[in-house]
Order: sequence, then structure tokens, then C-alpha cells
Amino acid sequence: MNPTDITYWNREAETPPREQLERQQLESLRQTVETALKTPFYRRRLEKCGLADGSDIAALEDLKRIPFTTKDDLREAYPDQLLAVPLDEVVRLHTSSGTTGTPTVIYHTQQDIDAWTELTCRGVVATGASHRDVFQNMMSYGLFTGGLGLHYAAEKIGMTVIPSASGNTRRQMKLMKDFRTTAIHATPSYILHIHAKLEEEGFRPEDFHLQRAFIGAEAHSESTRQKIEELFNMRAFNSYGMSEMNGPGVAFECVCQEDMHLWEDAYHMEVIDPESRHSLPDGEIGELVMTTLQRGATPLLRYRTGDLTSINGSPCACGRTHRRIARIKGRADDMMIINGVNIYPSTIEAVIMTVPEVGTNYQICIDKDGALDQLTVKTEIYSKLFNGDIRSLEQLKRRIQNRLKTEVVISPVIELHEPGSLPVYEGKAVRVFDNRPKE
Ligand code: ADP
Ligand code: ZN
Repeated sequence: MNPTDITYWNREAETPPREQLERQQLESLRQTVETALKTPFYRRRLEKCGLADGSDIAALEDLKRIPFTTKDDLREAYPDQLLAVPLDEVVRLHTSSGTTGTPTVIYHTQQDIDAWTELTCRGVVATGASHRDVFQNMMSYGLFTGGLGLHYAAEKIGMTVIPSASGNTRRQMKLMKDFRTTAIHATPSYILHIHAKLEEEGFRPEDFHLQRAFIGAEAHSESTRQKIEELFNMRAFNSYGMSEMNGPGVAFECVCQEDMHLWEDAYHMEVIDPESRHSLPDGEIGELVMTTLQRGATPLLRYRTGDLTSINGSPCACGRTHRRIARIKGRADDMMIINGVNIYPSTIEAVIMTVPEVGTNYQICIDKDGALDQLTVKTEIYSKLFNGDIRSLEQLKRRIQNRLKTEVVISPVIELHEPGSLPVYEGKAVRVFDNRPKE
């Protein structure tokens, strides 16, 4: 990589010496405990473990005295038991998209919003994007944080923002073409869907001037990223976040495109074994646990994200000193147990997306066949393959099945579908349908 390709939004904040960053984390952690003590939820909890003041935290290690905060805790604290400031200081609230149950709420002061915007600016600029970009934001605006989160950062950077929001695929294409959009923000599944619909809507990939995409909000494999990059001849950068930790902008890939820098002045991170809850060393995959270090209205201490990743503590060629996290493998509760074998949907996705004939959408279904679990993988394939040649379709099915057998040690039933025939989702894609009777 050419060093002139590296740009920073705030070089000082992005490249501090580690000792300085850790000192700053300790300071901020003390402040966060003070703030947390102002919420009814944490006051009860922290007093129980003998923490009555921020100064009771002598070292970052002391964080381990505090119990984990879970999604259920957040639901229990709904709607206002985790609010640390008077409501008139709150300028906005967001809720999670509720993928896994009742939503959770996070309140923000103006300072919280400004700090969040700064973090998101860092991530966007780390990909090489700048004020010269025309940015089309295809994430939904509203309670979901994806739209507004990137919107404010893009404006602050000075990009030309097209707040197209999600859906209305034909209009997205027209906007991209007419305004020569260079950067987009969308879920990976939606970008793949746009590609599947191009021909039908009368567009070609050459009509666009895309240079980069920020893709996030759902788990996706490296093979999917590569597919997206090839289909639109652009670079795709992984962007990670969740409403509990503001939204997008928690961690972002830099131009090196190898794991995501997580802004450690704003979040303290740990990776734990989801079963034993013990901390895991760098490089080992476990559940990401985060503590907010800057938030005023809704501080969260040791929040169990449910997301599986590992910490990459090695230095990055871009010079940023904030450590990186690996591509999210999925949520801990995404794991499927098929006839006793543990499999993550992302592992299946990674395999099928390397098959060139496989199109842009897929589904994984699990049914009961007598005593056994039956896994079916439904994938769309490109229309030119549906030319009536049954033999080549049968061969393709066998090829996909063999690849899954070799790499994941399962042999599902493979169903091939025409492009555009499997359901699409404007927000997060739903890929797994477990039809087994609940015990
Ligand atoms: P919900 O938990 O209801 O879906 P959010 O909208 O806050 O609410 O979604 C956050 C979740 O989305 C994360 O916890 C994670 O599971 C997933 N996610 C976000 N970005 C990524 C990404 N880049 N890769 C994988 N998963 C992601
Ligand atoms: Zn980097």
C-alpha cells in the first residue's frame, strides 16, 4: 500500500501511543462508573459489588468486578432505568431493530451525538473516502441507527449526501447513475439484490461510478465481500456497530481491509468464552463485550453483544493504534446444531459464495425428517444457466454439495432458484428458517 493512500479524520486521536490510550481509557472508565451510578439500574448493581464512586476503580482490570450487562437487562431496564441525565438533556433516542426480541432503547445527549459522529467520521475517512465523494445512504432512517448514524458523519466530512434510505431499488439505481454516486452505505444483502435487479430495471454495472461501499448491519463472509467488489468494480469496507453502542461507527475497516479498528477511546473491549464467561486471549474467537467510555445519557458496562469475533492486537500498516476485531462470525445464538454438528450460517455462506454460478441470494432451511435434521440450502443462480439443460443444473447441485461436504462436513439438499425468486429484505436479511418443532 502506498503511504499517501492513508488519510485520517483526526490523526492525533487515531494514532496515540498505546500507554496514552490505556491511561485515557482508565480516566474515562472512572467517569463512566460515576455516570452509571446516576441510573437506577446501575446504582443497585454497582453498590452490590462495592463500587460507590468512580475512584473505586484503580486499574482497568477492576472493570472485571462489575457483572456483565445483558440484552435482557436492557429490556428489563426499558424504558428509562438506564437513563443517567434529566430527559431535557436528551436530544434523541434510538432503539435496536429487534432482530432477536423486544427492542432496547439508548438515549443520547447532544455531546453523545457529536462524539458518535466523530467516531463515524474516522471510520469513513479511514476507507479513503473524502468530501469529494457523492454518498448515497441506502440504510433506513429512523429508529434504526444505520441511516442517521452515517448521515451526520458524511455531512460533517463534507460529502455530497443523497439520503435515499432503504428500498425502492429502481430509484436507487437511477440516483446512483444520475448523480454519479461514488460511495454507498448498505447491507451486503441489499447490494447483492441491486445487482440481481439491474438488468430487469434496464441498467448495467457500467452505468455507475461507484468506488467504495460501506457494508454492515449483518454478518457476511469474505467471499461475499469479494463478490460485491467484483460485481460493481469497487471496494467494499466492513462496518460494524449496534444501537446499544450508538450504531454504525464502532469499528471500521481501513484501506488495508484486514479486520476492523475498534475505537478504544470510546469503547473498552473484551472477548469472552460465551459459556464459561472467562476472558479469552487475543486471536481467540468468543463473544465481544463492550463498555462505553464516553457516553453521558446511557452508559453501558460490560455489555454482552452476542457477536462472535476475536481481537487482533498486531500493528496495522495504516498506523492507527486502536486494536482491530475480526469479521463478525455471527451472533452466538445464530449457531445451528444439525444432527449434533455445530454450524454457523456464515460458514455455509462463505462456501457457496465462492461458486461462480451462485447468484446473490440464498436461504438456509432446517426441517425434521424422522429423527434426523434435514438441512436445505436454497441458492439463486444466474438466469443464463436456466436454459433447460437439466443435466448441467444437476451437476452444479452436486458441485455445491461436494464443496460443503469437504469444507463444512455436511451434505445438505441443494435447491437452485432463478434470480429474484427468493424473498428480499430491505433491512437485515433473514437467511435461516428453522422449521423443527420446538421442544
Ligand atoms: P438488532 O440487534 O436488533 O439487530 P441493531 O440494529 O443494533 O439491532 O444491530 C446490531 C447487530 O447487527 C450487531 O450486534 C451485529 O449482530 C450485527 N452487525 C452489525 N454490523 C455488522 C457487521 N459489519 N458484520 C456482522 N454483523 C453486524
Ligand atoms: Zn488500519
